[in-house]
Amino acid sequence: MNQVASSSQLDDLCAILRFPSISTDSRHNADTLACGQWLVNKFNAMGLQAELRPTDGHPVVIAKNNYQTGRTTVLIYGHYDVQPADPLELWHSQPFEPRIEGDKLYARGATDNKGQLMCHVLAAEQLLAGGADLGINLCFLIEGEEEIGSPNLGAFIDRYRDELSCDVILVSDTGMVAAGQPTLSYGLRGIACGELLVKGPASDLHSGVYGGIVMNPARALSQLLAGMHDAGNHIRIDGFYEHVRPLENWERESWAKIACCDNAELQQQVGCSELVCEQDYSAAECLWARPTAEINGIGGGYQGEGSKTVIASQAMAKLSFRLVPDQQPADILDKVEKHFKKYAPQGVSIEFVRGHDGQPYLADINSKYAQEVKQALQEEFGREAVLIREGGSIPIITTFQQKLGVDSLLIGLALPDCRIHAPNENFSLTNFYKGIALSANILTKFAKLH
Ligand SMILES: [Zn+2]
Repeated sequence: MNQVASSSQLDDLCAILRFPSISTDSRHNADTLACGQWLVNKFNAMGLQAELRPTDGHPVVIAKNNYQTGRTTVLIYGHYDVQPADPLELWHSQPFEPRIEGDKLYARGATDNKGQLMCHVLAAEQLLAGGADLGINLCFLIEGEEEIGSPNLGAFIDRYRDELSCDVILVSDTGMVAAGQPTLSYGLRGIACGELLVKGPASDLHSGVYGGIVMNPARALSQLLAGMHDAGNHIRIDGFYEHVRPLENWERESWAKIACCDNAELQQQVGCSELVCEQDYSAAECLWARPTAEINGIGGGYQGEGSKTVIASQAMAKLSFRLVPDQQPADILDKVEKHFKKYAPQGVSIEFVRGHDGQPYLADINSKYAQEVKQALQEEFGREAVLIREGGSIPIITTFQQKLGVDSLLIGLALPDCRIHAPNENFSLTNFYKGIALSANILTKFAKLH
């Protein structure tokens, strides 16, 4: 399918980009609301039944066609809120006045998420033209709080669970590994956070008067932290890998061919002298399919100018663990706590305080829906889609899986240089038009499934 550049589609994208729908800033509440209302009007004009549904924060836009039994039910998720545009002085044009230069459209929200979201909206509009029947049950769920952590989306889904029940969820809020390379993401890492406290003497001590007879908590902490990895960069916490699902052969083979994930490229990105991967795993495998144990912060003792001869009574470290299927955050934190208590040197006590967590996610890449999406990606971009997982976590995806029991297929249209959350955010117009054609293609394929 070849999509001819249509100015009315571009006009719609520019129109939604003009709303400064910054969810975190209450001075923009009216703009955020107006943006949601714009979408409702757009959906209604297309022939869907749309409304703004209130939450304790910004409202959710729901738009549906008339459901018929026996059809595939597709839920498309997106968000109409955006990050603040600051620092404004670094933008080359006004963040809320879209500017086109070459193939790029510059505006806050251009890629994250209005540009990607509008691909699906405009695809539905195209398919509905002239009162045509979509052949599927279609529901758009567009929230206004993604950039502030979707605090009300879980309760919203609980409330409308029956109405939101569906066969598959489509989300375009991730990236392509390179321009022109269609990319389908089917996995996300989970996370488990905690804080390790090591307590020694009742108060800080003079390191001359008492040095040599007490276990220094900072030393005990260092010992414990150093013991988390072995020389091959494996994690040494007992049972840590117990539930890790091994990489499949096709994953190892296909990821090895993704050029932008090779070690030299990544090394340049991060600016380190050398990459340090887990032994026997490539960088892509370490990023997408292997768990981590990271020290995010470390503290204890004197941090000021010069020296201070002290044995501090406490030391602490902030830790996070990126998890992969089928690790469970609570189980991992149990194992971590047990490990530190077991290996704590004599003379100190250990406290482990648990922080936030999130489940890892893996979609069934062999499902009929995933197969159709792969096929559509190949048809629209003219080359086979790469199937990847993401190193980060997208909490709403696991929320959908837990509450609706349905997989989300992540069809990213963001390019590596799209600068989301940063000044001069931009969206590729090629991807905009290809994204519209892609979404229309996918929905048409889904209509034939039943
Ligand atoms: Zn974002």
